[in-house]
Amino acid sequence: ATFEAFDLRPEILEGIQEAGFRAPSPIQQQAIPVILQGRDAIARAQTGTGKTAAFGLPAMNAVHRDSSEGVQVLVIVPTRELASQVSDELYRLGRCAGIRTVAVYGGQSIDRQVSLIRRGAQVVTATPGRLLDHLKSNRLKDFAPSIVILDEADEMLDMGFLDDIEEIFTYLPKERQTLLFSATLPSAIRQLSKKILTDPLSIDV
Ligand code: AMP
Repeated sequence: ATFEAFDLRPEILEGIQEAGFRAPSPIQQQAIPVILQGRDAIARAQTGTGKTAAFGLPAMNAVHRDSSEGVQVLVIVPTRELASQVSDELYRLGRCAGIRTVAVYGGQSIDRQVSLIRRGAQVVTATPGRLLDHLKSNRLKDFAPSIVILDEADEMLDMGFLDDIEEIFTYLPKERQTLLFSATLPSAIRQLSKKILTDPLSIDV
C-alpha cells in the first residue's frame, strides 16, 4: 500500500514525504479512506501505531486555506503533553499545505491562546478542561469545527473527563464529522460513542 493511493491533496502528500513516512501503517490504511469519505468512525488503536496521522491526514485534507473559515478541525486529548505532541505532529504534516495549528491547554496564557485562534488557526488540539473554559466564557467567536476527534478516549474516561466531554459537545455544531480513537473500548466509551457519533464505522487493528 502507498499514501499516493489515497485521495489526498498533493500538499498533504508533500507533508507525508517531508515527515519521512514511506508507507501507511495498518491503522492508517484502514482509517484514511473511511475518514476521507466523511464517515464517523470509532477506532481501537494503541499509541505508536501512527494514529495521529491516521486521523490528522484525512482531517487536514479537508481544511480550506481561507482564513475566514475559522477553526475547522478540533482534536481533544487527555493531557497537556499529548496536546503539544499531537499538535506538533499535525503542524509537521500540515506545514506544506499551509495549515495553521495551535495547542490549547491549561497552565498557558488564556489571552495568547485566544489570539492565536482568532488570528486564523484551522486546527486546534485541546485538553478538555481548558477547552470547556474557553467555550463557557464565549471567548472563541463562531467556534464551529466541522471535524471533531476524540483521541485516547479511554484515558479521558480514567481521568474523569467524561462529563466535560459531554458538555463540550453541547457547544459543537450538530452537522459535523466525529471520530473516536481509544486503546480500549469499555462500556462507558461505547455509551459515549452512541451519543456523539452518527452511524459510525468500526476500525480495529
Ligand atoms: P502515533 O501512534 O501517532 O503516536 O505515532 C507514532 C510515531 O510513528 C510518530 O513519531 C509518527 O511520526 C510515526 N509515524 C506515523 N505514521 C508513520 C508511517 N506511516 N511511517 C513511519 N512513521 C510513522
